[in-house]
Amino acid sequence: MTTLAITDGQVLRPDLTVTAADVLVDQDTGEIREIAPELAADADETLDAAGSLVTPGFVNGHCHVAMTLLRGYADDKPLDAWLQEDIWPAEGEMTPEDVRVGAELGLLELIKSGTTAVADMYFHVPEVAAAVENAGIRARLGHGIVTVGKDDEAAREDAQTSLEIAREYDGAADGRISTAFKPHSLTTVGSEYLEEFIPKAREAGIPVHYHANETEAEVTPIVEEHGQRPLEYAAEHGMLEPEDFVAHGVHVDDREIELLAEAGTGVIHCPASNMKLASGMAPIQRMREAGVTVGLGTDGAASNNDLSMLDEARDAAMLGKLAADDASAVPAEAVVEMLTQGSADAIGLESGRLEEGAPADFAVIDLEQPHLTPPHDLVSHLAYAAAASDVRHTVCDGQVLMRDREVLTLDEQAVRERALEAAEALAARVDG
Ligand SMILES: [Zn+2]
Repeated sequence: MTTLAITDGQVLRPDLTVTAADVLVDQDTGEIREIAPELAADADETLDAAGSLVTPGFVNGHCHVAMTLLRGYADDKPLDAWLQEDIWPAEGEMTPEDVRVGAELGLLELIKSGTTAVADMYFHVPEVAAAVENAGIRARLGHGIVTVGKDDEAAREDAQTSLEIAREYDGAADGRISTAFKPHSLTTVGSEYLEEFIPKAREAGIPVHYHANETEAEVTPIVEEHGQRPLEYAAEHGMLEPEDFVAHGVHVDDREIELLAEAGTGVIHCPASNMKLASGMAPIQRMREAGVTVGLGTDGAASNNDLSMLDEARDAAMLGKLAADDASAVPAEAVVEMLTQGSADAIGLESGRLEEGAPADFAVIDLEQPHLTPPHDLVSHLAYAAAASDVRHTVCDGQVLMRDREVLTLDEQAVRERALEAAEALAARVDG
């Protein structure tokens, strides 16, 4: 057995208490072997965590990592206009190589901000999978389907691609990659394709992930056309199962919250994207009280504009209090839970908790910073005060991905240079 010891840290436990302990990892299985004082003596490799908080690696429950190439390309518009006027034309020009380079840039940013797992929806997914394999993190990947504006043949081909990708890549990268069938949303995929393909995904044991109730403009057409709320429509199409998860859930009514809770379908809350696109305030306090599993996601870098889950945590708390008109809503503990176990549970991963036998996925946060002093309450600091740049080390599946801010699995400078070049060429092609 090859072992890694994370030494002398303050360890955040699943019940959100903090204990001074070492963490011993079996690198062959990628699991935590023991959490206790003085475990470092015989370890093959050590990571110093003195003056630091050892937390579960953050789980980004909804992202489009390759969209980093479009960071700052188009801002300050509502979702509809932003997608149709700027994002979709640019994405139409993206080559497989662009997606590869953008994904590498996004994964670099995730690792540097302590994220060890991501659920990603995009196209040219084999390129995203290759980038994930090299970067060393966990991912639940899928091809996003859009059928509006396509003829039947092209629409069916898109849905078929999503199904095939999900089948082919499930379990790739030594099990670090899992997959989902990913219709983009309930308004951008025709009901006939949902009726045909959702049962096929179900048969193959593949979960379903989609954007739902993100804006009012996504709710109204479904109510008008089908006489149902979007999540009632989703349930009728077999898209509300315990293994499924939806992104956003901003405009949900009480009946839909009840449906989510009864079904056990997770919701990934993306507060920064919702605020930036003025999509609205998701009622996450009410969802949590109703028993819905809520996680956090950054969404793509073009609507955020960074991929830091610590920013997302803070935004979730602030926006959640405003949405509930209650300062006690979405407290620090709730935020930290969503950041780690909530997201992991929602997207169906075992990570998100530091305990014996759990996947060895960590972020180690440097507490010896002015903005993290004094250490009255480390859960509060994680929710409200810590920043991506405080992450010292990142470990996934028992492997050290970043040591003392140096990413070991990706060449940071080369990734940035390739991304700069690809983004510039892409913008030139689009703007013609
Ligand atoms: Zn999204």
